[in-house]
Amino acid sequence: MQQVDVAVVGAGVIGLAVALELRSRGLSVAVADKNDPVREASWAAGGMLAVDDPENPAPLRPLSAWSRDLYPEFLARIEQHSNLLVPIRTHRALQGAHEGGSSPEALNALKEIGLSPQGYAWALQDEGSLDPRDLGAALHAACTHTDVSIRSHCTVDTLAREGAGWRLHTVGGGGDIFAGRVVLCTGSWAGPRNLPVFPRKGQMMAVEMGVPLDTVVRTPEIYLIPRGDGRVVIGATIEDAGYDKTVHNADIAALQARAVKLFPPAAQAPIVETWAGLRPATHDGLPLIGAVEEGLYAATGHYRNGIQLAAATARAIGLQLTGESLPIDMQAYAVNRTFTPVFAQPS
Ligand SMILES: Cc1cc2nc3c(=O)[nH]c(=O)nc-3n(C[C@H](O)[C@H](O)[C@H](O)COP(=O)(O)OP(=O)(O)OC[C@H]3O[C@@H](n4cnc5c(N)ncnc54)[C@H](O)[C@@H]3O)c2cc1C
Repeated sequence: MQQVDVAVVGAGVIGLAVALELRSRGLSVAVADKNDPVREASWAAGGMLAVDDPENPAPLRPLSAWSRDLYPEFLARIEQHSNLLVPIRTHRALQGAHEGGSSPEALNALKEIGLSPQGYAWALQDEGSLDPRDLGAALHAACTHTDVSIRSHCTVDTLAREGAGWRLHTVGGGGDIFAGRVVLCTGSWAGPRNLPVFPRKGQMMAVEMGVPLDTVVRTPEIYLIPRGDGRVVIGATIEDAGYDKTVHNADIAALQARAVKLFPPAAQAPIVETWAGLRPATHDGLPLIGAVEEGLYAATGHYRNGIQLAAATARAIGLQLTGESLPIDMQAYAVNRTFTPVFAQPS
């Protein structure tokens, strides 16, 4: 039986970021994923580091601001251990809202890229974006190079206390894992402790844009994320469809029509890829980060912002496991909090 200080269940961006943080604190770490690493939400994401998106719930702000501050250090550590670059692909975002006025800088930026205001109030935000597949590949390599053990196609189906630690019963290979502590990073899946999370599906597309675009353009209805190499990611639907990840042509056509309304050159842009992913949602739109019970932690429910929140989530779990104090109040994200619902329970 494999014995480690900490077992991490789930190898998405959150699980791997947590694993790397714990490893850098000198702990031995094993990660198990029921699939291949970084093939679920973390592979499907747009990659906007959208700290100031007005759609974010207000209580998310302290965590997202902390994560923004940690991000350069987070990427530097990943790049150092992986020898892979995770380029920041855009450096600003135009945010359209239904209320308020437009700033002069935003109107100038709109003009520069050939957009008309279309009735939105625009703000120009100092916000980056990256390709989550760059991040996932680099995180995976960084974990591997620092001797984090990663098991693919290994489902953790039950957890039981054993002595001072936990026995993780696994299905799919490698046998059970015995760990002093466990962190559940199971994304949209409730996992072995039935965490209060559920999936919200997002369908996405990438086009080869024939004209230059160097700015993320985002409204409550649609967003365009340039990758800096001619591709532009357009998203996304928000659906309660269980664990279904089917891509529907009609939904993709509707996304493209909305993008064309905002940015007319998208009409001529050939579609190069379509896909769907499952955002890990909670009923109040805030993540679950912290202790579930003695020796058992969760880091999940990051909904639309898990790429942006990965740096602070990993640091928070690292500080909590080593008994250090945190620079922000984490009560809003506590696993055992009372939820104030913002989403209806999907049927
Ligand atoms: C369409 C779309 C667009 C998005 N855009 C953005 C964006 O622009 N910016 C941003 O910050 N975020 C964005 N997100 C959100 C972001 O992708 C997620 O919040 C983040 O990826 C969650 O990471 P995770 O590791 O918790 O989940 P996941 O990546 O889903 O990983 C969870 C892992 O746990 C594994 N697992 C589950 N149960 C078990 C088990 N019992 N045993 C073993 N393994 C298990 C799964 O196989 C999976 O690999 C987007 C998401 C979607 C779907």
